[in-house]
Amino acid sequence: MARYIGPNCRMCRREGDALNLKGTRCFTEKCAFKRRPQIPGQHGRDRMMRKETGYQVQLRAKQKVRRTYGVLERQFRNYYEEANRMTGNTGTNLLHLLETRLDNVIFRMGFGLSRPQARMWITQGHFQVNNRDIDVPSFSVKVGDLVAVKESSKLRAQLKDLMEKTTGKEVSPWLEVDRDALKGKFTALPERPQLDQKIQETLIVEYYSR
Ligand code: SF4
Repeated sequence: MARYIGPNCRMCRREGDALNLKGTRCFTEKCAFKRRPQIPGQHGRDRMMRKETGYQVQLRAKQKVRRTYGVLERQFRNYYEEANRMTGNTGTNLLHLLETRLDNVIFRMGFGLSRPQARMWITQGHFQVNNRDIDVPSFSVKVGDLVAVKESSKLRAQLKDLMEKTTGKEVSPWLEVDRDALKGKFTALPERPQLDQKIQETLIVEYYSR
């Protein structure tokens, strides 16, 4: 299974936004984007000054979402094509496909400090969906599915600790989480206004419709 293994912070700097890919570090002064909020590379500062073409704006909109959700190019295009085949708005369909990825659901439930961490723990076999072991981060969670940390998982103690540290942290309204039992339910597909307003999915659709 292919995955990006380069430096995560570089992606935040390239996209000009904190994508929160490193858990707690993202909320400290060590955050590379906070310290150097410019495009990486020798000519990064110059590139920031240049006006972007329409194509570049679309490309950046696509790259930012792709990197936020931790999806490689080929898979992202597959998601777009699937979203395009579905009924309804293609952009919203695309966001729904990304939101239902198991690594995203685990992260949103709070069972991971970042999507990359959730992804790693899934591949290590710590989670179940509807009482079935699932170790595929891209697994598509359906409305009504129950997601849980395995009873036998060595991660339970660490996650209980994490739950205590993050008490009071809001959970996305389309999820129900039982923090003590380390399980949750995906109750509904999110409405578009509930998702990140900075995402410009129409630009992504334009990018792939060129
Ligand atoms: Fe991005 Fe987190 Fe790195 Fe900051 S610490 S640059 S938010 S991955």
